[in-house]
Amino acid sequence: MATKQVAVVEQILSANDQLADQNRRILDEAGVFAVNIMSSPGAGKTSTIVATQERLKDRLRIGMVDGDIETTIDADRAAAAWMQAVQINTGGNCHLDAVMLSGALHSLRLDEIDLLVVENVGNLICPASFKLGTHISVLIASVPEGDDKPYKYPPMYRGVDALIINKIDLLPYIRFNMDYFIKGVEILNPGLTTFPISCTTGEGLDAWADWLYRQVMARKGA
Ligand code: MG
Ligand code: ZN
Repeated sequence: MATKQVAVVEQILSANDQLADQNRRILDEAGVFAVNIMSSPGAGKTSTIVATQERLKDRLRIGMVDGDIETTIDADRAAAAWMQAVQINTGGNCHLDAVMLSGALHSLRLDEIDLLVVENVGNLICPASFKLGTHISVLIASVPEGDDKPYKYPPMYRGVDALIINKIDLLPYIRFNMDYFIKGVEILNPGLTTFPISCTTGEGLDAWADWLYRQVMARKGA
């Protein structure tokens, strides 16, 4: 890439970071804890979010922002269960950025939300570069994607606060070496909090939801 192009990319990212800081202030002032959920397409973001909501809905008021390239399928699915759900159609953009989240924050009643779940666009590359202002980022990997993904997409694995490994019910049928996968993760993000789950069987979802609940409560107490 030419030097001039690099400079433009850096400016875009720095403008994004400033707006992300502003989003964070808006969230903090409203007492909202926000989590950015990222994964490749089809790893189970929406399924995991719906299962999480089922486990936390009696303890927390939950809102959702869904980034999708052009459908409202996921937001519709969530809205059936959610108090508040907002759809961001990114218009072909392959990631959410702080501008898009800022727009969504303005259309939510933040005073009525404890936990805001942001479902990013399914993509393992650029969402890692665009801060949104959320308090934590969580990556959902899934068994059918293969055990080499930490080695192929290091920035994504390096930048997250927790990792979910979904579809573990498929481990007997798919060539997925868990030790090799975890070794790759450990190199990039030592000691990363990891939750093996299955949205099909429900395995591991209570542990994940309880951990998320503790993150929300720790922030409220701070
Ligand atoms: Mg989805
Ligand atoms: Zn992108």
